[in-house]
Amino acid sequence: MMIEGVLVDNIVFEKMAGCTRRFSPLEAGGLVLGYRKDTYIHAIDVTLPGLWDKHSRSSFHRSPRVHRLRALRLWRKSGGLIDWIGEWHSHPSFSLSPSGVDHRNWKRLVRHRKAAMIFPICDGRECELFLQDRFQIGPHKLAAFESDNLGTFFNAT
Ligand SMILES: [Zn+2]
Repeated sequence: MMIEGVLVDNIVFEKMAGCTRRFSPLEAGGLVLGYRKDTYIHAIDVTLPGLWDKHSRSSFHRSPRVHRLRALRLWRKSGGLIDWIGEWHSHPSFSLSPSGVDHRNWKRLVRHRKAAMIFPICDGRECELFLQDRFQIGPHKLAAFESDNLGTFFNAT
């Protein structure tokens, strides 16, 4: 199913930006959690790096167990509504464009999950949001369409 829009709560941007600054110049990252509703995705939270994650200046390796456990807890607490809808990471000292490795990781994850996912990249001040679905070759950079005091809506079409 084609995703038409993505809503990202402000807290998601705030957590990613704060975490990026805290770990800079090393990369950081985690999962993006939220809801899927028809052709829309709503991001409400992110996981932050844990002790078992590995950081360098140009890579971030998430320890799958820890992050998935957090996602699973939230999923259960919400009665199966809040799901793992994407993955974020930081580029603290270079462009917000995805690298070749990012492209490959994102495609692999989307194939595995059999659903479109969002992939924010953050530099500590700004974030770019990318959408990867199962049918596109590469990720699609989303443009912010409208913001209010709760969040930002991105058009995906
Ligand atoms: Zn990257």
